[in-house]
Amino acid sequence: MPNSNGRMATQDAMNPKDVRHRRTSRSRCAPLYAGLTQVAQVAKVAAVTTGVSAGRRGRRGAPPPFDAAFVARWLQGSAAEIAAHRDFLTQLDAAIGDADHGVNMDRGFAAVATVVAAADGLSPGELLVQAGATLVLRVGGAAGPLYGSALREAGRSLGTASTFGLPELTGALDAALAGIVKLGAAEEGDKTIVDAWMPALQALRDARSAGAAAALHAARIAAEGGAAATTPMEARKGRASYLGARSVGHQDPGAASTSLLFGALERAAADAPPDG
Ligand code: ADP
Ligand code: MG
Repeated sequence: MPNSNGRMATQDAMNPKDVRHRRTSRSRCAPLYAGLTQVAQVAKVAAVTTGVSAGRRGRRGAPPPFDAAFVARWLQGSAAEIAAHRDFLTQLDAAIGDADHGVNMDRGFAAVATVVAAADGLSPGELLVQAGATLVLRVGGAAGPLYGSALREAGRSLGTASTFGLPELTGALDAALAGIVKLGAAEEGDKTIVDAWMPALQALRDARSAGAAAALHAARIAAEGGAAATTPMEARKGRASYLGARSVGHQDPGAASTSLLFGALERAAADAPPDG
């Protein structure tokens, strides 16, 4: 349940047995926060966690299928999807958790959308690092640190390049999943967000020779399939694991929200301008 600040305490939310590294950027950077506005805090965390400032730009001349506008479309589209499915996600969490996943994710991605709208001249990687820092700051429970580190690791993987291709996007999504697993220590079959990320990335790799649009379509379909496949699973990580066998028969809320992010990713690529 939220504390008096309306936030979930990370230590309460994530079982110690589930988490190897619970020190977040926030705890490491706590002194930085005093006196900063929300957006300034996020920019500061981004600079600290990337080790670069927004003034340094990536190399020029890379082929440009994906760029900062694509990442912005992905993040804004994710915020819209989460908002549209907020009650659905919360209902899923009511069945096997504490009925806050939709509210948590909506609050965090609404803040991400605001940060993205205000961001100017950032590389795609820097934008993702800012988004990740925003989620860590604004989302309580397990989902904030997990999705926050996912986006931050994806951003770090992209570095400061101004454009990137499908191989780099695949690498960034691999890095995102590695960040989730490093923090949450979940394996496939534990009934978590990993059960949507893993098949999505496998499908992306399998379909990449067909081009970005087809690969991202395959990834979205696989993420949805992965989320649906969590229904008969017994949870072994997170709050739902406290229910043991009673967690069977309900879709995992985090896997469902992951499938929404992959849906937004597919659309972000499909909405690219013809020359972009
Ligand atoms: P909380 O459970 O703290 O209330 P949320 O409701 O926002 O947090 O998020 C719950 C989701 O987080 C779960 O449905 C699951 O997908 C995901 N999750 C929980 N623990 C882990 C973990 N150790 N690894 C990966 N995902 C996890
Ligand atoms: Mg919850």
